[in-house]
Amino acid sequence: MMIPFVDLKAQYEAIREEVNAAVLRVIESAQFVLGPEVEAFEREFAAYCGARHCVAVNSGTSALHLALLAGGVGAGDEVITVSHTFVATAAAVRHAGARPVFADIDPKTCLIDPAKIEAAITERTRAVMPVHLYGRCADMDAIAEIAARHDLTVIEDAAQAHGAGYKGRRAGSLAPLACFSFYPGKNLGAYGEGGAITTESEETARVLRELRDHGQSRKYHHERVGYNYRLDGIQGAVLRVKLGRLDAWTEARRAHAAEYRRLLADAAGVRLLGDVSYENAPVHHIFPVFAPRRDELAEHLRREGVSTGIHYPVPVHLQKAFADLGVREGALPETERAARETLSLPMYAELPRESLARVADAVRRFGAEAARA
Ligand SMILES: *Cc1c(COP(=O)(O)O)cnc(C)c1O
Repeated sequence: MMIPFVDLKAQYEAIREEVNAAVLRVIESAQFVLGPEVEAFEREFAAYCGARHCVAVNSGTSALHLALLAGGVGAGDEVITVSHTFVATAAAVRHAGARPVFADIDPKTCLIDPAKIEAAITERTRAVMPVHLYGRCADMDAIAEIAARHDLTVIEDAAQAHGAGYKGRRAGSLAPLACFSFYPGKNLGAYGEGGAITTESEETARVLRELRDHGQSRKYHHERVGYNYRLDGIQGAVLRVKLGRLDAWTEARRAHAAEYRRLLADAAGVRLLGDVSYENAPVHHIFPVFAPRRDELAEHLRREGVSTGIHYPVPVHLQKAFADLGVREGALPETERAARETLSLPMYAELPRESLARVADAVRRFGAEAARA
C-alpha cells in the first residue's frame, strides 16, 4: 500500500456530514456566486488572520493579481520576489503588467533573503512580494524596514501559510496586503478553486471588491474595468466548515513535523530545513528534505511505497515562460540548488503515526545504503 502525499478523502471522512449540509444549504438557497456564505467566510477569515478585511476571490493567483493592482503596481514597474516558488507568484506580476525581479533565497530556510532585496531595488521597483514558503513566514519586520526606506508596497504571498505565526501575529496581518489560496491541497482548501486577499484598509478592500466583480460599485455601474474573479457560494460554505477545524489540523501537522525532525535528525544523505532567527510558528504546508541525490531518493521511496512531491523542480527564472526576463542559469545559485535537491515528504493532518515512521525509516535506509556504497 502506497502512503499518499496528501489524502483529501481522509479529511472529507471526518467532516462529511457538516460539509454535505453546508453544500446543500447553498444549492437550496440558489446563492451560487458570492452571497451570504462567502460574506460570512470573509468576516470569519479576516478575524482568524487578525486583519480587518477579507475579500474572497476565485483563486490564489487572482488574489495576487488584484493585490498587485490595488497596491498600485502597473506597466513598467518591478516587483521583487523569489524564483523558488509556485509559478503563480511571478505570473501574477506579469498579469499586472509589471516585471518580476528575483532575489535569491536563504539556503537554510528557503525564504527570501532580506539582504538580497536591497541589492535588487531600482528606480522602477514598486513592491516586494515575499512568499511564506512551505508554511513559514518570511522575516516581515526586516522586509518592512527595507520597504519603508524605499517607499515600496509589501504584499504577502501567504498561499501556503494559513494561520502561520510571526512574532505573535498571523500571516495575513503582516503587510498592507496579503494573499491566500484555497486550492484543495492547501492547508485550508475549498472543494474547487478559491483565494482571498486580506487588508487593514477599508478603501483598499472596497477597490478589491470592485476589481473582483467587473469594477462595479453597484449593479451595472462600472467604476473601472475589472475582472470576473468572484468566489462560488459553495466554496464559501465549505471553507467556513473547514476554517473551524484548521487549528486542530495545524496542530496535527506540527506534531508530524516534530516527529519527522526527531526521526530524521541524524539521517545520512539528507538535510532538513534550518531554523529562522525570529519567533515564528510554521504551519508545515510542505515538509521538505534536501538531498544531493534527490532523484535517487525519490525513486527509493517510491519503491518502498512512499509518495513524494517536488516543490519546485524548475525555478521560475529558468521556465520557458519567463525566458524573456533574461535571467540565466547560475544567477540565483541557492534557488537553483534548492530546486535540484528538495523533496517533499507526505504531510497532512490525518497522516497516521505508523505511516510517518515508515516514511522516516525508508529515508534513513537510503542514507545508510548510500553511506555504505
Ligand atoms: C498555490 C499557490 C499560489 C496560487 O494559488 P492558486 O489558488 O492555485 O491560484 C500562489 N503562490 C503560492 C506560493 C502557492 O503555493
